[in-house]
Amino acid sequence: MPGVLAELAAAAALICLDPGHGTAPEIGRGQEPIGPGSKQLKVKDPGGAAGEEAVALAIARRTRGLLLARGYRVAMTRNGTGYRGGNRERARFCNASGAALMIRIHADGSGDASVHGVSTLVPALRRGWTDDIYGPSRRSGQLLQQELVAATDARSLGIVERSDLTGFNWADVPAVLVETGFMSNPREARLLRSAGYQRKVAGALARTAQRFLIR
Ligand SMILES: [Zn+2]
Repeated sequence: MPGVLAELAAAAALICLDPGHGTAPEIGRGQEPIGPGSKQLKVKDPGGAAGEEAVALAIARRTRGLLLARGYRVAMTRNGTGYRGGNRERARFCNASGAALMIRIHADGSGDASVHGVSTLVPALRRGWTDDIYGPSRRSGQLLQQELVAATDARSLGIVERSDLTGFNWADVPAVLVETGFMSNPREARLLRSAGYQRKVAGALARTAQRFLIR
């Protein structure tokens, strides 16, 4: 029964959850190279949208619960505030944990309060940095955006390739970043703070991991 075997194989897999921001300020204002060997530096944590770090952590915790219940192993880059690394350290943590997938959880912000919707960011292809993870990351991003839109009915802003994200460029495991909505949009901010909506997002993330692992 190949289906059962595939599920057993997937059940041993580890998912690395990375709730964005929540970095200790004295660490977050420091800089780090955006990729291995790069002279281009970027701030470790510019701070997210208002309320983003708490929403990201709440969704990560709910996702962890769902994944553990399905027999997956889970590692989390942070489980509170005062994280003492940058995005390079977050990627290295997920690399070292031997993750099958790194899911970075964020919410968006805009100066225009009417802007709303969900998007999924994936690493752009760059030789030596992301060529080893580009294909599977992109595949996980397609699954994630599909699951998230289906679960929330949010407006889809699509999948966006990014070459400038430190947490992608240092990743050696497939990585994806979900923008779960806009904290600057009153309706989405209210939803993102609610347990019901967080459960929908967490369900979408858990199903993404499951579909990614069980081909
Ligand atoms: Zn963010």
